Amino acid sequence: MRIIFLGPPGSGKGTQASQLAKRLGVPAISTGEILREAVRKQTALGQKAKSVMERGELVSDDLIVAMIGERLAEADARRGFILDGFPRTLAQARAFETMLSGNGDALSAVLNFSVPEAELTERMLGRAQAEGRADDRPETIRERLRVYREKTEPLVGFYRDRDLLAEIDGVGSVSEVAGRVDEAVSSSRRAGSASASGRTA
Ligand code: AMP
Repeated sequence: MRIIFLGPPGSGKGTQASQLAKRLGVPAISTGEILREAVRKQTALGQKAKSVMERGELVSDDLIVAMIGERLAEADARRGFILDGFPRTLAQARAFETMLSGNGDALSAVLNFSVPEAELTERMLGRAQAEGRADDRPETIRERLRVYREKTEPLVGFYRDRDLLAEIDGVGSVSEVAGRVDEAVSSSRRAGSASASGRTA
């Protein structure tokens, strides 16, 4: 399974991605986590990304696409993956489409998590206290939501046009949302096998 988790910051997609990854036996790959690790280790990538991330803006498409290309070339991603936080712009989505088709691979599904904006802000402020993330400050939260609406939300239509989109209501307990995720993944599996058998018939 090759699955993208789409949704605004604070929509719970990180938590759901790591849980689904365990259930499916594939890696959950978070571009935000890879970048935070690079910042901690003060690598060249980390030095370029740090201030952009602290402002709640997006790291350049070129850096991100190169980074994800390297990560997906690792052995554990050959059987599939769940992407959390990538792609985040139309340019990234297009570059990713080209990357996958170059490898003869196709996406299985894109799950779009929706949560009302007031709840997103509340969750991120809670996370700021619990985890101390540098970009969970009130001004940065507002900027991240604005950037999401401007740059990332257009991907909903991009993947809907490709018949890959499943909507997930992100309001509820972690286990309630996980149930909805499982249902969406099962129905995309059924759709995938139906179209595969349709091709051979
Ligand atoms: P996240 O943990 O997914 O919320 O990502 C934290 C921050 O990392 C974002 O606010 C961006 O600055 C940066 N980032 C993560 N993924 C991407 C991406 N696909 N494109 C550009 N910037 C990203």
